[in-house]
Amino acid sequence: MSPLLVLIGLISAPSAALPGSAGAIHVDPRPVAAGKFDPASRARHGELQPFTGFRARRPEKRYSVTVPIGKPKPAVALPRIEGPADARLPLVVIDAGHGGHDPGAVSPHDGSREKDITLALARAIRKDLLASGRVRVALTRADDRFLVLEERYGIARRLKADLFISVHADAAENQDASGASIYTLAEVASDREAARLAARENKANIINGVDLGAHSGDVSAILLDLTQRETMNLASDFARLLQREASDEVEFRTTAHRFASFIVLKAPDTPSVLFETGFVSNKDDVAFLVSPAGQKKIARGVREAVQVHFARQIAER
Ligand SMILES: [Zn+2]
Repeated sequence: MSPLLVLIGLISAPSAALPGSAGAIHVDPRPVAAGKFDPASRARHGELQPFTGFRARRPEKRYSVTVPIGKPKPAVALPRIEGPADARLPLVVIDAGHGGHDPGAVSPHDGSREKDITLALARAIRKDLLASGRVRVALTRADDRFLVLEERYGIARRLKADLFISVHADAAENQDASGASIYTLAEVASDREAARLAARENKANIINGVDLGAHSGDVSAILLDLTQRETMNLASDFARLLQREASDEVEFRTTAHRFASFIVLKAPDTPSVLFETGFVSNKDDVAFLVSPAGQKKIARGVREAVQVHFARQIAER
């Protein structure tokens, strides 16, 4: 009778001493005579093989990690520039704070949402500025949509705006707190409250725990640039003007011009202010902010400040 091939396999478990090694099968075929098949099959023929040389060759880059991240998000569409079709006229970009799934502050009195107040104010300001015929105007958003902070000042930069005004309304636990204030950019906040407000406004970028705005660190570095210093001076000049021109009809806080590190103000080449128009947590303020009469008063103040601001710049040339 012809010899039989007996295959005895032994599957070894992965060895803890050799991390990364898989299980191995060692096969040891040998001929046995038919009469010896039974004893041969019962005998132990397998043996453990060491795992060295298991891989054909070592991977060349030992720590290379590839993570698919998808295509970069395209830049948001630029808004329409309204007003006279004369590119020499200054361009003012009005930014209605918050929007979409970010309501901003919500009034404990009437439930008014900051995002709706800021949009109504932005529209009122646009109307007044266009009526003046001296500037061109664009809104970062003209409806209820969400934009990250970098997209907001990004729009102003891409349009080469001469002035950027981000419109907001504050909220405080103390419902007596009232009045408008104007913030300009500084890496060090002028006071604790300004720092708190900047932290809260900057949070608009963090949605579901994911930080959607990426480059604030880069932009901070640009602060050292002279261009930025000039831009910041122009913004401060405008902030003072806005308080002066609007204070006939809009109640301002005692210290109306404050400084803090707001992401939305970080365009290095566009003078930018953040106009906190009042407190939605204050009964009188919120009634003023939601009323068409109050919105008109704020718009008029902005228009007058804008006119003086650009008249000064033309005079200085
Ligand atoms: Zn806000």
